[in-house]
Amino acid sequence: MSAGDDFIRAVVRADLAAGRHDEVVTRFPPEPNGYLHIGHAKSICLNFGVPQEFGGRCHMRFDDTNPTKEEHEFIEAILEDVRWLGFDWGSHLYFASDHFERLYEWAEHLIQAGDAYVDDLSAEEIRAHRGTLTEPGRDSPYRTRPAAESLDLFRRMRAGEFPEGARVLRAKIDMASGNINMRDPVIYRILHAAHPRTGEDWCIYPTYDFAHGQSDAIEGVTHSLCTLEFEDHRPLYDWLIEHLPVPMVPRQYEFSRLNLSHTVLSKRRLTQMVEEGRVDGWDDPRMPTLRGLRRRGVPPEAIRDFVGLLAISKTSDNLVEQAMLDHAVRERLNKTAPRRFGVLRPLKLTIENYPEGEGEWVDALNNPEDPDAGTRQVRFGRTLYVEADDFMEDPPKKFFRLTPGREARLRYGYLVTCQEAVKDSSGAVIELRCTYDPETRGGQAPDGRKVRGALHWVSAQDSVEAEVRLYDSLFATPLPGADGGALWDDLNPASRTVLTGCRLEAGLAGAAPGETVQFERQGYFCPDPVSTPDAPVFNRTVGLRDSWARAQKRAASKS
Ligand code: ATP
Ligand code: MG
Repeated sequence: MSAGDDFIRAVVRADLAAGRHDEVVTRFPPEPNGYLHIGHAKSICLNFGVPQEFGGRCHMRFDDTNPTKEEHEFIEAILEDVRWLGFDWGSHLYFASDHFERLYEWAEHLIQAGDAYVDDLSAEEIRAHRGTLTEPGRDSPYRTRPAAESLDLFRRMRAGEFPEGARVLRAKIDMASGNINMRDPVIYRILHAAHPRTGEDWCIYPTYDFAHGQSDAIEGVTHSLCTLEFEDHRPLYDWLIEHLPVPMVPRQYEFSRLNLSHTVLSKRRLTQMVEEGRVDGWDDPRMPTLRGLRRRGVPPEAIRDFVGLLAISKTSDNLVEQAMLDHAVRERLNKTAPRRFGVLRPLKLTIENYPEGEGEWVDALNNPEDPDAGTRQVRFGRTLYVEADDFMEDPPKKFFRLTPGREARLRYGYLVTCQEAVKDSSGAVIELRCTYDPETRGGQAPDGRKVRGALHWVSAQDSVEAEVRLYDSLFATPLPGADGGALWDDLNPASRTVLTGCRLEAGLAGAAPGETVQFERQGYFCPDPVSTPDAPVFNRTVGLRDSWARAQKRAASKS
């Protein structure tokens, strides 16, 4: 199935063709109790993408029905992240709390119609009455209480006469239903808690189930797209819409959540990770949050590309390889990221026959993938730095880099020959003494002699020292915690490697966060927000090896 051809788009296409709606209205409904992650991106791209394709709009809606866990900080961050991802809700920003008064009226409507009752059972008793998957529930003794009595009690609940937990309002549906969500679900509870938006106005709050579908109906949402765990809530969603004087009938459709390997996408887990200091914060570049990905240098386009590769389906057990996200990031950056030289583990290289105190500028391509990207000039001179592992004293046969007596190419610079490796007292190589062939400027030999490979380098004079942080997956196992052990046991102890004393092309010192570049042969890197021109700090976004594309190719050649 190609993108754009999933079952949700098929439903929308059919609804429009049949004239059931003139336009598509969707909503993205986060609960403001944490930061957005890559799983949310799937929902955002779908909810905003469908109306973009078919005509219509997507609302930004906060499901703020639980005042005890929600904060302004999260609301602002979520809006910023959705905008960063490239989507715009125009004037359609809503909060479930905007609808509290109407929801309250509708609750009274249900009571008056005999479709809801105030229950005095405790939370524990309600649970005990609920039954199990195999046994029906039992009616609460308050189920048959007269509507007038329930109405009076409900109004007094609102007036603040009762303590938390004393009473709840329940929809009167069917305690014997095979669907536990239909066994007289709680629709209002007492919470003596101030709300970030309505302050002290309320001490009773609707549950998610009572707020969600009704908010959809109030806002005119035609297609309410949510993840599969709400499939069992759909009968309740429809029951409420049917029993209330709503202005229109929205429909709920469920699709599978994104599960990503080697990380966790549960807000509860991510919150725990931040609170327990297992990462540096919500925007730690190892986090699967949009802020983490942004800080790591992932462009929003790459996230949209990645979501475009995902199936929108009802298959619940889909675990997507982290490598596929990396693949999408790499593909995008390959087209856009300027190439630069950055030496992560520098080894000094001295060209003994290059005049002391002199230097020259050589031209280097900004992006071989993009002819319009042009060239820049890089300083060449007598003292350079190369990558330590580009030298081997006693190399295997196919080593086309630096080794005593063999010619190697410094890309865009010259062909050089290593004459001697200088060692310290412990035997570690600390400097390469080389000679260069002045006839090979640009890295090409005029006589056409063959030199394989091309190494990156920087000059000692025109490079800056930097800190570079390399990242690996947050968890060492594809499904953290799956073996029944503690989740934290699966954390990858090598998820971050900090390298100091790296040497980068001088022009990189002033780069700003978001300006992701490719360090040739090393991967994609971007400045961290703490970076300054005097003390540059770079994050590695992804390396160059595309294990996902490789595996795809292998699989394709087998079939
Ligand atoms: P969590 O289970 O981590 O607490 P949530 O689903 O409660 O997440 P919400 O703020 O309610 O988080 O999510 C807003 C929207 O994003 C919902 O419609 C939800 O279905 C969707 N969403 C959340 N996680 C994913 C995911 N992993 N894949 C796809 N959609 C997701
Ligand atoms: Mg939720």
